[in-house]
Amino acid sequence: MKQINHWLDGGAVAGTGDRRLPVWDPATGEQQAEVVAATPAEVRAAVRSAKAAQPAWRAASMSRRAEVMFRFRELVEANRKEIAALLAAEHGKTVADALGEVARGLENVEFAAAAPALLKGGYTEQASTGVDVYSIRQPLGVVAGITPFNFPAMVPMWMFCTALVAGNTFVLKPSEKDPSASLLLADLLRQAGLPAGALNVVQGDREAVEALLADPDIAAISFVGSTPVARFVYETGTRAGKRVQALGGAKNHMVVLPDADVPIAADAAVSAGFGSAGERCMAVSVVVAVGSVAEPLVAAIADRIGRITVGPASDPDAQMGPLITREHRDRVSAYLDQSGGQVVVDGRTAPACRGSGFFLGASLVDKVATDSPYYTDEIFGPVLSVVRVDTYDEALQLVNSNPYGNGAAIFTRDGGAARRFQYDAVCGMVGVNVPIPVPVAYYSFGGWKASLFGDLHMYGPEGLQFYTRTKVVTARWPDPATSVVDLGFPKVR
Ligand code: NAD
Repeated sequence: MKQINHWLDGGAVAGTGDRRLPVWDPATGEQQAEVVAATPAEVRAAVRSAKAAQPAWRAASMSRRAEVMFRFRELVEANRKEIAALLAAEHGKTVADALGEVARGLENVEFAAAAPALLKGGYTEQASTGVDVYSIRQPLGVVAGITPFNFPAMVPMWMFCTALVAGNTFVLKPSEKDPSASLLLADLLRQAGLPAGALNVVQGDREAVEALLADPDIAAISFVGSTPVARFVYETGTRAGKRVQALGGAKNHMVVLPDADVPIAADAAVSAGFGSAGERCMAVSVVVAVGSVAEPLVAAIADRIGRITVGPASDPDAQMGPLITREHRDRVSAYLDQSGGQVVVDGRTAPACRGSGFFLGASLVDKVATDSPYYTDEIFGPVLSVVRVDTYDEALQLVNSNPYGNGAAIFTRDGGAARRFQYDAVCGMVGVNVPIPVPVAYYSFGGWKASLFGDLHMYGPEGLQFYTRTKVVTARWPDPATSVVDLGFPKVR
């Protein structure tokens, strides 16, 4: 059985632990590789290596660090088909979807290459007579990233590009379910000129995460995954004195007002509900149909679902692939037996479900009750719920009382209603006639409420803030003409 390596000191290293974790081929249901889970000693070695590499990497000029990002960008671009093939093989997403993931990851590399402009400090000349004050941004040291299965290339790129260009070194713990893309990215960074040890990858699961959380040499942790683990990582990490940003799960609402263009809204709901088989933290999982739009909208969505081709990434016609594991597929499909909604389309009847892969077709559940598991749970699969309400205010109340607050979208032709929604919605990212409002890389990504623990969102300007700390220098060059003994509290003169 193929074994997935760690990445240490600039090269691949085989694990020595005795716990083996399966990597499935979700399209066939066969095991394709195994991860030898990192032991606490291996995690410690990765952190030690990153710590040893950090002073020299920090001392590398800003231009040199940006140059590595420029070269990395070219290498990712040149290898995007290979990266996408790895994502498709281990995650199961279609090649087109995987190429989209690589493209969105590349935005973060480009942002990092231009980061010197944002890492500038401030300067005040003559803050007091003969005294200048300036601020500088310095890296934190060794930082760690813990990432989920659903974006095995993009989410690590959200983190390590920004962290590295700011002068930190990085230890990545990717998802054990699709770990190979992280190794290819680490190798491309090596080829781009990143020094050995500046990025290490430890493969594994909870045990590796706990070792990172306990390691005194890790200054900060970026986490993306489910809400219970995000909360655990945030609480444990901050208790240990680390800076932590922990992004959690979601239940994203798409509000459709009666004046919306029904075909456009239906296209958007189907794309955002079933792209990547619904395994996106920004997937639309609830359509909130307001008033008279419900009947035509449900019919239009059902019609489009009937035309989705479900199949393996090797099928160029496939628009939707399998789920990540059999266990997850069974958990998602079990929702379709729940009460609390009317199943309009049952994805279990899709032809792809007859094989041994982890497939489930797109499913639509109408008239969902807000106290049913369809609504209360993050299903994280191709099950789209429709909740019918009478008014905009009821729709807004649903968005705002939901415990999650990642993204929400409104579909309408009424600019005033859209503006009101943007103002009122209690969530981190809002789409106006855009169903998956993932911000471009020069903004930052993050939800509110149970979708994010911590203070700063990920990547973009807030990412740079997260991975640096500010030092303020107050300086006076010796001038005998202004030097006096003064025991009073220093004040500006
Ligand atoms: P997960 O929480 O199971 O795993 C995330 C990471 O944490 C993995 O690296 C995993 O090995 C590790 N982990 C798992 N259980 C752990 C435990 N008990 N203790 C310590 N570490 C543990 O998430 P997943 O299933 O890989 O990803 C899907 C989830 O991620 C969904 O909830 C989705 O909404 C969320 N997600 C959120 C965002 C966002 O930006 N908010 C983005 C992508 C995914």
